[in-house]
Amino acid sequence: MDTVLIIDCDQGKFWAQLRSLKLHRYKLFRTDEWQTALQSLETESVALVLCNLDSPKFELSALIELENRRADNSIIPILVASEQPSLDHGVVQNCEHVEFCSVMGGFDYLQSRINHHLQQHYSMQQQSRKLAELKILYQVILESASEGIIQYDKTGVIHSANRKALSLLNYNEKQIIGHDVFDLLSTAEDDAADAKQLGSLMLQQQPYVCNRVILNTRKNSTIVAEISGNCIRDIDAKVQSHIMMFQDITVRTLNEERLVKLAKYDVLTGLSNRSKFHDFTEGKIAYCAHNRKKMAVLFIDIDHFKNINDSMGHDAGDELLVGVAERLRFCIRESDILARIGGDEFAITLVEMGNPNQVTRIVRHILEVIRKPFYIQSREVNVSASIGISLFPESGSDLKTLTQTADTAMYQAKIDGRNTYRFFSAEIQNRMMELSSLEDALRKAIANDEFFMHYQPQIDSVTGRVVGLEALIRWQHPDWPKIGPDRFIPVAEECGLLPALGKWVLYSACRQAVKWRTDEHIQFNFPVAVNLSPKQLVSGDFIDLLDKVLRDTGLPPENLVLELTETAVMLNPDVAISTLGKISAAGVTLSVDDFGTGYSSLNYLKKLPIDKLKIDRSFVKDIGIDTNGEAIVKAILALAHSLNLEVVAEGVEEQHHVDFLREYGCEQLQGYFFSKPLCVEEISELLRQEKVKWDGVAADPGKPQAVESEHFKSPFH
Ligand code: C2E
Ligand code: CA
Ligand code: CA
Repeated sequence: MDTVLIIDCDQGKFWAQLRSLKLHRYKLFRTDEWQTALQSLETESVALVLCNLDSPKFELSALIELENRRADNSIIPILVASEQPSLDHGVVQNCEHVEFCSVMGGFDYLQSRINHHLQQHYSMQQQSRKLAELKILYQVILESASEGIIQYDKTGVIHSANRKALSLLNYNEKQIIGHDVFDLLSTAEDDAADAKQLGSLMLQQQPYVCNRVILNTRKNSTIVAEISGNCIRDIDAKVQSHIMMFQDITVRTLNEERLVKLAKYDVLTGLSNRSKFHDFTEGKIAYCAHNRKKMAVLFIDIDHFKNINDSMGHDAGDELLVGVAERLRFCIRESDILARIGGDEFAITLVEMGNPNQVTRIVRHILEVIRKPFYIQSREVNVSASIGISLFPESGSDLKTLTQTADTAMYQAKIDGRNTYRFFSAEIQNRMMELSSLEDALRKAIANDEFFMHYQPQIDSVTGRVVGLEALIRWQHPDWPKIGPDRFIPVAEECGLLPALGKWVLYSACRQAVKWRTDEHIQFNFPVAVNLSPKQLVSGDFIDLLDKVLRDTGLPPENLVLELTETAVMLNPDVAISTLGKISAAGVTLSVDDFGTGYSSLNYLKKLPIDKLKIDRSFVKDIGIDTNGEAIVKAILALAHSLNLEVVAEGVEEQHHVDFLREYGCEQLQGYFFSKPLCVEEISELLRQEKVKWDGVAADPGKPQAVESEHFKSPFH
């Protein structure tokens, strides 16, 4: 309870009157000692001082001291009462907070003044109570805020920081107070510009927000923060200090960055994904269009990637993709983009590059680096790629056309034998449009019996006898001109028709061989060679098929040769070696086709159970024209012979080819010089004539066994 302090030594009428005054809620404390009165200011909560001026002990000096003393604290009004009508006590007049009250006419006036002062005291007390409550509220809010809050002055010196701020920045209160707020902003290389900008905002006289700031914490670490702030003004609107509120958004930022990564990057390889590739390329198209610059878009597809996945598993496939991505990274410039846009498809946009020669150089380099062996799950894996190129603005002036044309050109590269590149052209476009109809027609061709086989003889270079036949597939669509296997086999491979087609070829050739074997007019004591596509070799069930075909047709395995290209083997050497081992064990002869055009590793060649090499016709063609070509032919022959392999030369068209190949010991010759591939009737006729001819030779003991080169004249020329 608050106190009304009464200083009065006259215990007579004044005191009696005072005691009858209504002083609700207040305690009366009377003393006639000024010293006690002064002391009570320390111990009591004094709301009002009443002082009897007429008291003999009244001391002016004590009153002045009283006024001075309480002026330090809050304002306590002092009422000086007297029976005098007016105050003639000059000094009292000089006391600012002292009010004179005459009780000459009664105590009513004094009572009203007392009421007035106590009322005022009460409401002031209420106010300060409210203020105290507000202060507590403010403290609670500050301390329980989920944001860090820091108050700093106009020079940046920190004056206070709430609990959250301390915990986020790893400081205690002592350490942070007096610290420079600007030291909290990270000035690391990447953040310096942001820090500078924010630093100037932080001293301005208006609110600011900054969505991403790096703040230094005390332990030499940083957090990512979102900051807002404002200045604090006094009642005269003058800026007194500043406040900065911040939230730790490090985790959120990481998540956001992760999301952006997911949205823009390929998880497996870390390369840009299709969406980023599109955005980037679209931007560059606009730039190049505006600045009359050129650019190129490349679509890169790994050849036979599915085989790797099928034979070695998806983990190996993934590993290969990561390896390819790594190598591709080094093929482009910083300003270009490399993206993975699908399973085994990559895309590159080469900015400001329209010169086909320049593009070709890069593309060749890419093909080269992809061809180098990969080591996956401690096995050597060899792959190649097909690349389609479209040029801006020639092949398309917008993203959609450019990507479509690059894709079309890539498809053409596949059809043209893979491991190569094609620039998009109008001609390619037309061929592509044909392609889908080709695919439809191929699907129906087996059922409609539109395929048939041609056979091309292989001639012994010494005797001139037919010592083998190569089976080559032909397709006659009812309405179209003949389409060569070079064109439809890649399409059949691409659309998954090859297993059925390969099976048909194998049955067809083996059945025909059995027919010849049982034809008494033909002396059939040599094999038929059947071409295998790479996909057949790694298909997994090829051995079962081979077994079944040999059993169903009754063809002895020694009457069958399987021709496969180096690429088929190198695609996945380990699987190929195991399958080839089984083929060889079954008694079937193996021959490597188109030798010299691929990129075989001699290391593997040594390990393969092969019996024959076929020198590609591109080398044979060079005989007599190009000494380098001749050197290659000689080298292949020497190599093959050192590995105990028989050699067949393909594409033998000229007499001098024959002479050269005989001179260097090539065992067998095949080509137009002797015969084109022939239909069953024609080849049967040729074989019958051969039997007649050789029966005649055998019947005539006077003739030498070796045949002179003039015998090497084809009856079909
Ligand atoms: P290949 O296995 O290299 O077959 C030899 C190709 O060279 C045949 O073309 C043949 O007609 C041609 N040729 C033969 N002698 C000469 C010559 O003296 N000069 C020239 N310029 N060419 C000659 P074809 O029949 O068009 O076959 C092309 C390719 O298609 C074959 O190349 C082979 O890779 C593939 N192929 C053909 N039949 C089949 C088949 O039944 N199955 C599979 N998987 N592929 C086949
Ligand atoms: Ca062949
Ligand atoms: Ca060949």
